[in-house]
Amino acid sequence: MAGNVHVIGHPLVQHKLTLMRDRETSTSKFRALLREISMLLAYEVCRDMPTTLVDIETPIAPMKSPVLDGKKIVLVSILRAGSGILEGMLDLVPSARVGHIGLYRDPKTLEPVEYYFKVPESMAERDTIVVDPMLATGNSAAGAVTRLQATNPRSIKFVCLLACPEGLKAFHAVHPEIPVYTAAIDERPNEHSYIVPGHGDAGDRLFGTK
Ligand code: URA
Repeated sequence: MAGNVHVIGHPLVQHKLTLMRDRETSTSKFRALLREISMLLAYEVCRDMPTTLVDIETPIAPMKSPVLDGKKIVLVSILRAGSGILEGMLDLVPSARVGHIGLYRDPKTLEPVEYYFKVPESMAERDTIVVDPMLATGNSAAGAVTRLQATNPRSIKFVCLLACPEGLKAFHAVHPEIPVYTAAIDERPNEHSYIVPGHGDAGDRLFGTK
């Protein structure tokens, strides 16, 4: 895999992912697991975030101590399944700002079409993390990142739970510079663009809509 793909192989992530893949796992358990796993993904994604020293006083002595640099980071959720990852990441980074991108796939062209877009102001001073559980075709992820780039954020990272080689290739053909973080790279997309073996439809499993 290209250097811009980070597979989070931590045993806790892999254990939780196995439980999520199991078709017998209930909606509420799936939702809870996605929230937990997303905290662990956020921990890894934020690993290289810049820090700056600030002056504080402990009860014992003054010191210079690191805090995250710059304006609050922005978590950008691709609707609708992105909200499952968003919840967990907000548990770990509660002061993060939140953006939403709504895309649907045009049934004729199969290209992503935007129906909703809202992000905070002052994006030029912000690091952003785009979240969507599945990188299957890579089309909506690439479309979302292209749209986000128009707001000129300081940086963009993409986080998913599952990817496949085709999706990664398609995404990086458009955005080679954007790092992708994922818990696993599965075999392939099937004829309906579902990841195999995957865990099924992320939105349906998260919201119990099927
Ligand atoms: N979206 C999903 O929800 N599941 C997949 O496997 C692929 C795309």
